[in-house]
Amino acid sequence: DVTVGVLALQGDVREHLTALTAAGVTARSVRRAEELAAVDGLVIPGGESTTISKLAAAFGLLEPLRERVRAGLPVYGSCAGMIMLADKILDPRSGQETVGGIDMIVRRNAFGRQNESFEAAVEVAGVPGGPVEGVFIRAPWVESTGAEVAELAHVDGHAVAVRQGRLLATAFHPELTGDHRVHRLFADMVRAAAR
Ligand code: GLN
Repeated sequence: DVTVGVLALQGDVREHLTALTAAGVTARSVRRAEELAAVDGLVIPGGESTTISKLAAAFGLLEPLRERVRAGLPVYGSCAGMIMLADKILDPRSGQETVGGIDMIVRRNAFGRQNESFEAAVEVAGVPGGPVEGVFIRAPWVESTGAEVAELAHVDGHAVAVRQGRLLATAFHPELTGDHRVHRLFADMVRAAAR
């Protein structure tokens, strides 16, 4: 079966490892380029995208990540991970770089002070069985997308889940809920790519 890595620089790595295991794949953390080279898919977890960006650069992982994305590695980013997959950030902190790959512009901390953290039932296209419980924590939203990007879910009129080819991103954190349907969708993408 397939092996899915979780980029383990910062963020909620353990929760993704647990969710991936529940979704039926072999999960392991990835910190070095050699470890990245050995996985069939990768999750970039939630956390703080500025920190993840700086650590990825310091660990010499930014270019290897970009190369594997270009070569078709399936990657799923949640929250900060969504930001890392965006071709463009509306309001980057200085020195903040992304891996990119999804033709979209994201707005960090988009839902504002009043709504720093909230939960919402989110219908996600491609996830059967009714809405998922979306946990939003200082979440981004997707400001705009290019023609190749499918918007899978919306909250208040803003896209909060997208897919472009083998890249999947959600503004919310399914790894915190015990509902593994989004991870199962990603596991299916990884298996399909490995065939
Ligand atoms: N606000 C964070 C950022 O900009 C993301 C928050 C999260 O991953 N829960 O990186």
